[in-house]
Amino acid sequence: MMNAISLGIPVLAALIGALLFRSGMELAAAVWLGACLVALAAYHSYFLRRLTHWAGLPKMRDVPVGIAAWRRPMDRIARFMRRETEERNDLADELGQLRAAVDRLPDGLMLLDRFNHVEWANETARDLHGVFGSRRPVHHFLNDPDFVDYLDAGQFARPLRLGLPSRPGHTFEIRLHASDDARKLLIVRDITDQARLDAIRSDFVANVSHEIRTPITVIGGFAETMLELELDTGEQRRHLESIAKHSQTMQRLVEDLLTLSSLESAIDKPADETIELDRLCSSLVADARVLSGGQHTIESDVPPGLRLLGIGAEIESAIRNLLSNAVRYTPAGGRISLEWVQKNGEGAVVVADTGIGIPAEHLPRLTERFYRVDRARSRSTGGTGLGLAIVKHIANRHGAELLIESKAGKGSRFTLRFAPARIIQPEFVPDPATTPGDAP
Ligand code: ADP
Repeated sequence: MMNAISLGIPVLAALIGALLFRSGMELAAAVWLGACLVALAAYHSYFLRRLTHWAGLPKMRDVPVGIAAWRRPMDRIARFMRRETEERNDLADELGQLRAAVDRLPDGLMLLDRFNHVEWANETARDLHGVFGSRRPVHHFLNDPDFVDYLDAGQFARPLRLGLPSRPGHTFEIRLHASDDARKLLIVRDITDQARLDAIRSDFVANVSHEIRTPITVIGGFAETMLELELDTGEQRRHLESIAKHSQTMQRLVEDLLTLSSLESAIDKPADETIELDRLCSSLVADARVLSGGQHTIESDVPPGLRLLGIGAEIESAIRNLLSNAVRYTPAGGRISLEWVQKNGEGAVVVADTGIGIPAEHLPRLTERFYRVDRARSRSTGGTGLGLAIVKHIANRHGAELLIESKAGKGSRFTLRFAPARIIQPEFVPDPATTPGDAP
């Protein structure tokens, strides 16, 4: 329609001119056609000027609306610009989301140019290293000498571990990835937990080696002596007793290590069962009396018929460890008790003694593997240094709490406190549907 009008108007103007000319009004025809040409030129130059003005605007504005012959090109330019704007907005949105995600990464990221100047850093890196602005040398922010050497050496296959002044007590790992255009991506990751685990693991290996070396050296020494020297029967017997004693120590150590490792694996955790706690305690107290050899008074007070939901072998091992410690750390003539204490629905197995006690500063570390207050006493009584670590693990697996109260020279009290859901009172018959994890 617009095209017909834009074509029709010049044709009509030309027809009018021709009619005027044929009617003998040549001057009027010439004036008319001249006026039409001027109007046409003015129309085109007006829209051309508007378009030129629009294209020169610093900010994107709406395309001017054209009329007649200018309508269609103007519409097309407007549509093209709209599409471009939409695509640009989508791209900006995506870029914004990407930046927000990269900023939220727990790792610090920095992009370095070929001269090791920071081109860009995510929020974590800005926080960690105090990065501000851009195009500043990276060592302005990370000036640890080890890092500077690492950067200079250019050997980025292995990461670098270091601490940062902005996060005291944390350990970080730095990785650098070089690209073809000599830029580098620097990634900083907080590996405090992993470093702590590595330290625990290597301490553990060192401790186990140390614990095993002592009995092995003793066994080897006695065996060599027996091979090299002519000993009388009494001496031979004493040597063999020592060999047997140290091989038992090693055996206990290996058993405790295996127990710890199975307690640490959550995969093959046995199902809970109903433990007849009163019977278990009686048999454990009988064993403790044998261990004591009549040197202590050992009493037990557990209500008959009391039952507990848990892993039988583990609960037995925990109480056995506590009783064995009580016997080993209580001088002859002392008293030891094993009792069941119930309060506010919660129940606890309490092992108390009147033994040597533990100075307060050692209490927080007692459940660490191989932690001992008196190394010599622990060894001489056959201790492995793993007993309380085992008890603590067992308590955790039962959602129970291990409380240690002690006074040096006065005695100790170890409490294993269980939640009400694990306790079955003597007269109460449990409904299997409501008791947690009962064995089928
Ligand atoms: P150990 O095999 O050395 O007895 P444990 O892990 O069982 O190892 O105990 C850790 C340390 O806690 C012991 O070496 C001992 O110093 C102290 N301890 C444990 N139980 C008692 C107790 N009943 N009385 C005094 N000290 C104890």
